[in-house]
Amino acid sequence: MKKIFTLCTILLVIAMAAKITTAQTKERKDVADKYKWDNSIIYKNVDEWNKDKETILAQIETLSSFQGKMGKNAELFYTTLRIYFDIYKLFYKLSDYAFRVADEDLRINANQSLNQISTTIGTKLGEAASFINPEILSIDAEKIRKFFDEKKELSEFKFYINDILRLRPHTLTAREEEILASAGLITSTPTEVHSIFDNAERPNATVKLSSGVKIELNAANYNKYRTAKNRKDRELVMKAMFENYKKFQNTMGANLAGKLRADHFYAKNRKYETVLKSSLNTNNIPVSVYENLINQINKNLPTLHRFLKLKAKMLGVDKLYYYDLYTPLVKSVEFKYSVEEGQKLLLDALKPLGEEYVSTVKKSFDEKWIDYIPTTGKRSGAYSSGAQYDLHPYILMNWTDDYESVSTLAHELGHTMHSYYSNKNQHFVDAQYATFVAEIASTLNENLLNNYMLNKVKKDEEKLYLLGSYLDLLRTTIFRQTSFAEFELEIHKRIENSEPLTGEDMSKIYYGIVKKYYGHDNAACVVGDYIAYEWAYIPHYVNYTYYVYQYSTSLIYATAFAEKIINEGQPAVDKFYNILKGGSSAYPIDLIKKAGLDPLSSEAFDLTMAKMNKVMDQIEDILKKKKK
Ligand SMILES: [Zn+2]
Repeated sequence: MKKIFTLCTILLVIAMAAKITTAQTKERKDVADKYKWDNSIIYKNVDEWNKDKETILAQIETLSSFQGKMGKNAELFYTTLRIYFDIYKLFYKLSDYAFRVADEDLRINANQSLNQISTTIGTKLGEAASFINPEILSIDAEKIRKFFDEKKELSEFKFYINDILRLRPHTLTAREEEILASAGLITSTPTEVHSIFDNAERPNATVKLSSGVKIELNAANYNKYRTAKNRKDRELVMKAMFENYKKFQNTMGANLAGKLRADHFYAKNRKYETVLKSSLNTNNIPVSVYENLINQINKNLPTLHRFLKLKAKMLGVDKLYYYDLYTPLVKSVEFKYSVEEGQKLLLDALKPLGEEYVSTVKKSFDEKWIDYIPTTGKRSGAYSSGAQYDLHPYILMNWTDDYESVSTLAHELGHTMHSYYSNKNQHFVDAQYATFVAEIASTLNENLLNNYMLNKVKKDEEKLYLLGSYLDLLRTTIFRQTSFAEFELEIHKRIENSEPLTGEDMSKIYYGIVKKYYGHDNAACVVGDYIAYEWAYIPHYVNYTYYVYQYSTSLIYATAFAEKIINEGQPAVDKFYNILKGGSSAYPIDLIKKAGLDPLSSEAFDLTMAKMNKVMDQIEDILKKKKK
């Protein structure tokens, strides 16, 4: 049951990284009610919240009294699980409310304290429930099968139980588990070192721009100035940024190698041949899904090279350099949308998903599931939370009247619809979806919005802007993230094969992969030698294990589903509901298969690359027309 927290945190991080809102001046009390979410249907007041808090604390006591009894008979086995999941459901209601209220105004201490109380309860619950998995594993499989025959109500927990049993070969004795858990105090060191070093202690480079202005290259300035209009400035900024990392490559490399060895330590002790196997096995994802991603994307590099050549042409440069990549293809167009206009646009854009879907989206607008307006003290960014199992999801927005706001809402509505339908169709135990499928429904909506807008806008500049930003998205999310995934696999392999791996080795490996992806040798894009140190700038390697590949797979599957839905209509939509309604009632790969795509085949890649080529055809047509 830990997964919802991981998922939400990660989604939150993505959403926040995607959009940093500017300082807010409006006060919440000055915002009309129709733009605020309605929290009062969860709890009317804090007294009600406190009542549930007391209930949960009492039930935690009850749960503890079941320790050691699960294997006795079917009735006790069932009752333990019943109590456990009922407390969790109530706890989600309680903690989600605390989060919602706190996020409205982060300055109000009373609301923050609700949050802290619910975090403490969460820890207590986790501790009280920690006997459940080992106890299930201590009962032999035949006995559990008999329990299922005797007690029909147990079928609700079948997938959950089977998943615990599936991991039996990788679960150790209680004492060994304890030792592994305590090793966490040591194995988390590389992540901490990286955070302190990269965010605080590493000196930043300073550059003098062509305007004479001197800037320090912290993360924010690097992001800003790598898209500078003046090409010399772009080169200067990128070169200085990564040559600065070069100075620390061996320190940062040794630290990253430490993290990789920690991953290997856990995988090996849990009897996995590789870290990849161990990491993907959490959600029963075959290693071939990862390998297929890398192989298919390598096969489709000519499509990326076509894009790079087109980009050179559109930027009006002879040769494209890596430092040109973040410069937008065309100058941005100002689209203006009020909340109401945005809602109307989305109701039209999401029509390909069918009447049922659109009517639920409309319900989310009418029944105040969404908090739109940026106000003083409100949490920045955007997210969707699906933790209110018996109610409906909530969306936090910071609406700024632009197209970005509309597409962010399209994205968050994807998460919300996914949560809504999964909550409605699955028992609580199977309602939370896995990270591997989490970004499919959301990016599918972004795809549909983009398609709709392309048919709607009239001016060539507007079309070029939409097509251009779409291509940039595919470049960064599909190709760039897969190149990261390839690097991650390669450095893990070195450790697993007991080969030496220094920071300098990492730079060599990284540079080779980037040159291959960007067609350095066939003149698609020149990759300066200082790009070799870019790996040190990417925090994911030291913060996560085999995570980034899911950015690519999600967008590839979402694009392929969007293509199927547009081409095949309702039958494709009906199949897609297998994901929307599926929660975690089956493994992610099986849900995607049921929805009509085989993650082990080339179909999703073929559809996505065909779409990317089609978009480039459209751009070339407009450019030709403009020339005449
Ligand atoms: Zn998302």
